Amino acid sequence: MEHSGQFPHRRWNPLRQAWVLVSPHRTQRPWQGEVGQTATPSGAAYDPACYLCPGNKRAGGAVNPAYDTVFSFVNDYAALLPDSPAGVSEPVFPLLIAEPARGLCKVLCFHPDHSLTLARMTQPEIRRVVDAWTHEYEELAQIDWVQYVQIFENRGAMMGASNPHPHGQIWSTGFVPDEPAAETTAQREHRDRTGECLLCSYLATEQASGTRVVFENDSFAVLVPWWAVWPFEVLLLSKRHASSLPELTVAERDALADALKRLATRYDNLFETSFPYTMGLHQAPTDGQEHAEWHFHMHFYPPLLRSATVRKFMVGFEMLGMPQRDITPESAAERLRALSETHFWPRE
Ligand SMILES: [Zn+2]
Ligand SMILES: [Zn+2]
Ligand SMILES: [Zn+2]
Repeated sequence: MEHSGQFPHRRWNPLRQAWVLVSPHRTQRPWQGEVGQTATPSGAAYDPACYLCPGNKRAGGAVNPAYDTVFSFVNDYAALLPDSPAGVSEPVFPLLIAEPARGLCKVLCFHPDHSLTLARMTQPEIRRVVDAWTHEYEELAQIDWVQYVQIFENRGAMMGASNPHPHGQIWSTGFVPDEPAAETTAQREHRDRTGECLLCSYLATEQASGTRVVFENDSFAVLVPWWAVWPFEVLLLSKRHASSLPELTVAERDALADALKRLATRYDNLFETSFPYTMGLHQAPTDGQEHAEWHFHMHFYPPLLRSATVRKFMVGFEMLGMPQRDITPESAAERLRALSETHFWPRE
């Protein structure tokens, strides 16, 4: 038996080397919690008050160019700075350890039109975002102290995004952050133990099973992972073993843009809302080491549970014990699979 049906069970996440608790029977319980606001697509293509729109002045004083495609700049309010004092001093207390953290935080505007989202951009427009990610990764990897390039997007007020303008972020760090570090360890250990790539083997398993795959194109598969924590969490995997964006062929970049558009459209159609999420690319660290174990993928972590307004919270047992989910990954995949790839709110 592949999984334990409607009974509580826990599943192993081999990529994170951690367990997740699955409690399918709990979806029956009544909801009396917070009801959020439904997000509606904003209408205006240009917002004079938006610091990301073309030609507008940013809070730091710089003026955006009149860009007509993608546009990136160094964040005016960066969490990390490229010039941190070097060297680690001996701690006064052995348990109170700190070290300087260098980083470079950039913002990447996906499109000049303030009202768009990835779901409502065309495939060629998304392809330009893929090209920009590739270019940024290559360029940032050249900086000698950069060990990891984290590309991500926070979408929607529910995820704390401060501006609806379609944009993402690129944080390059002088260290490998915890999530990709844990995945590096897991992928390396799996390869050492079996001689095979963890995610190549996992993809073959999911294709054989079929129950969690949402859709595929020539080069990518989109699935709800066996170990998903968030209700409609998705993993996007390259079908060919590639460790980072620069290894993708031109056709694969097209296919990535296609997969992103189709996934984002299905997400919006699920609750007929502009679907909030945090998504990000995971690829090989840029620490100068060989990373044959690394398999390029993207994670999508959306907070919505049962409607445009009811979200999942990671509280209680999840903060103190372990993550837990109610609807099974199989039923989430089934719902995503049944959705149309034509957006409910067409672009005019
Ligand atoms: Zn804007
Ligand atoms: Zn692989
Ligand atoms: Zn990952």
